[in-house]
Order: sequence, then structure tokens, then C-alpha cells
Amino acid sequence: KSGFCQSNSIFYSKRDPMILPPPNKHLDVTTFISSQPHRGKTAFVDAVTGRRLGFSELWLGVKRVAACLYSLGVRKGDVVIILSPNSILYPVVSLSVMSLGAVITTANPISTPGEIAKQMKDSFPVLAFTTSQLVSKLAAAASNSSLPVVLMDGAQADEKGVKIVGSLEAMMESEQSESRANQRVNQDDTAALLYSSGTTGKSKGVMITHRNLIALVQTYRLRFGLEQRTVCTIPMCHVFSFGGFATSLIALGWTTMVLPKFEMSKLLSAMEAHRPTHLTLVPPMVVAMVNGAKEINSKYDVSSLHTVVAGGAPLSREVIEKFVKNYPNVKVLQGYGLTETTAIVATMFTKEETERYGSSGLLSPNVEAKIVDPETGRLLGVDQTGELWLRSPTVMKGYYKNEEATAETIDSEGWLKTGDLCYIDCEGFVFVVDRLKELIKCNGYQVAPAELEALLLAHPEIDDAAVIPIPDEKAGQYPMAYIVRKAGRNLSESEIMGFIAKQVSRYKKIRKVVFLGSIPKNPSGKILRRELKKLTTSKL
Ligand code: AMP
Repeated sequence: KSGFCQSNSIFYSKRDPMILPPPNKHLDVTTFISSQPHRGKTAFVDAVTGRRLGFSELWLGVKRVAACLYSLGVRKGDVVIILSPNSILYPVVSLSVMSLGAVITTANPISTPGEIAKQMKDSFPVLAFTTSQLVSKLAAAASNSSLPVVLMDGAQADEKGVKIVGSLEAMMESEQSESRANQRVNQDDTAALLYSSGTTGKSKGVMITHRNLIALVQTYRLRFGLEQRTVCTIPMCHVFSFGGFATSLIALGWTTMVLPKFEMSKLLSAMEAHRPTHLTLVPPMVVAMVNGAKEINSKYDVSSLHTVVAGGAPLSREVIEKFVKNYPNVKVLQGYGLTETTAIVATMFTKEETERYGSSGLLSPNVEAKIVDPETGRLLGVDQTGELWLRSPTVMKGYYKNEEATAETIDSEGWLKTGDLCYIDCEGFVFVVDRLKELIKCNGYQVAPAELEALLLAHPEIDDAAVIPIPDEKAGQYPMAYIVRKAGRNLSESEIMGFIAKQVSRYKKIRKVVFLGSIPKNPSGKILRRELKKLTTSKL
């Protein structure tokens, strides 16, 4: 496997390979991470209350919560859902669930009850963790009124539609730590179910295994030093934050200050109080730091910062250059990844690499890539643009209970089709050029056109609909809809936008509507999204 730059062949990672445990060894990711306990250090700090969670407290909590879950009947393979904003206790929940060989599924706290209900119908959780603020949303989403719920913030809410069985704080204090049966976990068992629409269709459960997460931890080990300080603003329900803050950075002994959500003023205050060396941001947050640079540099002391890790969506050269001009001591390490690859599969490690503007860095350790001509299936070489296919120890096991979608996405040799149009240059840098797949990304969140199209088609005055992205400087993209009205109907743009806004999270709202006589489709009825995109570009 020498060289990465073989023409019309496989591209191999140029990074030093990571060391992985033997695949047949029984091992769960929690045990793997806790082998380096970082005793005496702080793992998490709550930016709002100032509460600190030490590594020793974290690991004791994980052990006790796992024991309580076991006594509540949670077993290997059972799914447990967490619906919570970012919190210092989020990782306590996810690690304890995974330590039992059970599966954690993360719901987005800004999702509507209808969206959460879909995730619950698909994943069928046996127990839920949520907060007293979100418990009514969970109850509205749950079809089973006896769903056992553990409250993460101690308050004893009484909620119809679910059964409150305890509080996380009480579980962390309980003395049950030795009682749980030792359930053998294989590295290939599913640890987490994170939802993604993939290349087409609606949201699906991405089965992330213990080995996927172990490989991610090892990637972080090769990329970052030990025991740094950082701030977490990206939702832990997303793979970028779940795999980073709630998993890998614990292994590396970092101290993370946790903000419940992204708010620039709160982030800046947190930076002054906590003096982070690193920040992980999605592109809209980088843009916000650029736009506010004058005020930030005059009012706040952000001098501790030396690295920004950015990913989740494209970041333009222009924004990076402006960022570096305004914050000259900070390097911006770009990364590229998917939920289906347990986050990062291409990254930058060094300052020199950041100068490769527009690129997402080099393939991560142990990652193999192919560039495939989407029309002919032919393998392409250096500097040629085609669909990126990946093989890596971080590639998901498949989509939960969806063999068809799995087979469409991962071929028999284990290659994952990313749905992204990319090229790799002769030095191994990956450039993401465009998206071949349907997916829209708004503020780093996924919007599946198929989901919005299904809602639109349910409107009695809509005959046909297609949803595509519209570029936006701040959010990256917004969804827009092409609509064919039923004959004789005069449904307006604002009525359509209002109809959708009532049913979806705010980042999925349709921002623009264009009426057409018909939606362009191929003979088998597939929407020709590229033609619609061209139409949009010509009108912008
Ligand atoms: P998600 O599963 O939500 O992480 O979304 C994955 C998708 O986000 C990828 O397939 C890309 O389309 C997009 N994406 C992630 N990182 C980048 C990046 N650095 N540059 C361009 N697109 C990106």
C-alpha cells in the first residue's frame, strides 16, 4: 500500500496508521476510553452554572447509571433515546448506555414532536432520558404512554403520556455500581443510532458500532494532543459533537466547557472564563466570528485560542482568509465527514495543511478512497472530479432495519458511497466540489428534501413538489420548493411556507417558493434536481 497517488486506483491515507484492538476482542467503547481515566482533572464545565464534572466523577457516574439502567431492565441491544440540549451530563448518559451494550439514539431538542415520533417509531426505545423542559415534547412524541423516562435535571415533573422512573442525579448518587451483570459486548455491536437521510430519501438510523467509535478515538489521538481546553456549542445529538466532545475528547482528557446552544455572546464569555485552546465550529459560526471580529477583538480576550476545527459543511476560501486576517494567531483546521463515517474522514493536522484553501485536508488514518465517475462507474484518478467512495474502520455498519438503503449505500466490498462530488489532488488533499445527493445543509443541520416533499404533497391544493437547496451566505443553504398547484387553485407562497413551518424544526422551513407547470423528471419519475438547480441559479 505504498503511495496514495496511484492513477485510476485507490487513494490511501498518507497519515500514520492508527492502532486498533484485535477485532474479535470483546470490548465496548466506554471500557476502551476509560482505560485512561485522567483522574484529578476536570472533564466538563457547565457554562451556565459553573458546575464542574471531574473525570473520576464522570466514570463513577457512568458505572452507577449503567447499574441503574440494568436494574430497570435495559439489556444489550435495547435502544435508549436521549432528548436534551447540550449538558455536562449528556456523555454520562450516552457512555453508560453504551457500556451495557445497549444503543443510544440522540434526538435533536429543536425537532418537533412529529419528527421525534418518527425517530421513535423507527428505533423503538425502551427508555428515554430528557429534561423537565423537554418532557412534554417527548410525551407528545411517544406513542407508548408507559415509556419509562429519566429526568436529567433532577426536577420531578409529572407528565401525562410517559412514566417518570427517576432522576439522573439520583442514579449518579446510587450505590448500585456492582450489581450489573457483565454483558459481553462485541466491537461490531451497534453503540449508537444517529439519524441521517444519507444520499436519498428520508431520515434513517445510522448504526455506529463500538469499533467505529474506537477508531474515531484513535483518529483524534493521532490528530490532537492530550488535556487541552475547549468549548462545546455544537449539539451533541449530531455525530460531529457526539463523536468529538461526548466520546473522543474524553479519551484524550480534555476539559470541555459546555454551552446549551450556540449564542455568540455566551460563547465569548465562556472563552474569557475558560481560556480554551481549541474551538469546534460549523461554518455559520465561523462566519459569525468573522462578521463580529472588530467587536470581539476589542471587547473580549480570546488570546488563549490557537485552533479552530471546522467541518460539517463547506467553508469558503474567502471566509477562511478573513478569519485568519482577523485572528492571526489562530489556525483553521478543516475537516470533512458524514454521520455514516462517524464524522471525520478527511482532516488537516498542521498549519501548513491549512494553507491548502478550499480543501478539507488529507484522508484520515486508515481511510481508503476512490473517485468514481457517477455516469459510467469508472474509477478516476488524481485531480479528476467524481463521487467519493470511502472504506474505513469508521464506516457505519448500515442503516437500522433497512437493508435496501444499506445495500444502495455500501457495496459488497465495504465501499461507502458518500454522494459528494470530490477530487483528490496529487498531494492527497481532498476537495469537496458539490453534492450529488439530495441532502440540504442549513446551519450544519441536515434537511432531507424527501421529507419536505412528502409534507407538501399531503396538501390538498398541491399537485407536485420538489425541494432543492438555495445558497445562503450565513446558513450555507436553505430549502426552497418548486410547486405545481392543482388546477384552478391559487395557493400562495406564504400559505405554503406557513403550512410547512407548522410541522417542522425551524432550520427545515421553506424560505422560497416558485410555481411551475410541471416538475422535470426522468422517465422513471425521479426528480431532475440538477435541472431545478440550474433554473434557480439562472434566476438568482
Ligand atoms: P452529516 O451526516 O450531517 O455530517 O452530513 C454529511 C455531509 O455534509 C457530507 O456528505 C457533505 O455533503 C457535507 N459536509 C461535511 N463536511 C463538509 C466539508 N468540510 N465540506 C463540504 N461539505 C461537507
